[in-house]
Amino acid sequence: MGAGLALGAQEWGGPVVDIHLHPKQTAGAGFAHNDGMGATKAVLLTNLRMAEQAKAEIALRPDRFIWFASADPSQPGNMEALGKALDGGARGIGEMKNHTAADAKDMRRLYDLCAERKVPVLIHFQETSPFTKEEGWNTGFAQFDKVLKAHKKTTFIGHANFFWASISTDVAREAEYPTGPVKKGGVTDRWLSEYPNLYGDMSANSGNNALSRDAEFAREFIKRHQNKLMFGSDCSCRDGRGAGSGALLPRLKNKCVGRDTLGLLKELTTPDVFRKVTWTNAAKLLAL
Ligand SMILES: [Zn+2]
Ligand SMILES: [Zn+2]
Repeated sequence: MGAGLALGAQEWGGPVVDIHLHPKQTAGAGFAHNDGMGATKAVLLTNLRMAEQAKAEIALRPDRFIWFASADPSQPGNMEALGKALDGGARGIGEMKNHTAADAKDMRRLYDLCAERKVPVLIHFQETSPFTKEEGWNTGFAQFDKVLKAHKKTTFIGHANFFWASISTDVAREAEYPTGPVKKGGVTDRWLSEYPNLYGDMSANSGNNALSRDAEFAREFIKRHQNKLMFGSDCSCRDGRGAGSGALLPRLKNKCVGRDTLGLLKELTTPDVFRKVTWTNAAKLLAL
């Protein structure tokens, strides 16, 4: 463990926290991924169905993980279960990923719970799913400023396709991974400036795409929101180096999404800002 920490700290010039890792089937597999990627800590985003796997992973290396809890708030008993998870040590709520509107009544109850318990909520925003033909997840992002205003005491962490596509004004509802230059003034960019309670999770193909589609824009975007952006992997590869990677973006084929995003962040930022987005911002928000 000690050697892993030293290696991670060495590789990226300091500690790195991954704010978007899901529990894997076997205990130790999450650590293997993140240690290989050069991260020192991770937030295990745990659907309560995977609570046992998360517990087993954390038990092996309690100093390397914290966890968030999630469950569909529209289902009976789930709101209580989430409250209990927070009592039991969960440090946030997420990843929220249900076929519902982001401003649905049950979601708003959940945002109130987060405010009351002073924990952030991490949300997957995706309007449509051309691949799986499913409905979208937490839809209606274009009007999410109403929620940000109505729930000022709730801290929101945005993530996924539509959140990141919306750095540009010309976002299409079915946008998955838009390419080419960003048209300035997108709502994600504006709201990160306007609302102190909105943060950005840079994980997954979508976060990586937002950084790689227009480097010139990305450089300024990260500088503008250097206190609001947080690194995450959301990667399914095994070793933090791309083995078994199912990454969707062509540029990430056979690569570790998290490792590649760390590389992009390094290229696009000064060492000071890199430290903020890979460690300090999350460390502050989650009191690591
Ligand atoms: Zn997601
Ligand atoms: Zn990976």
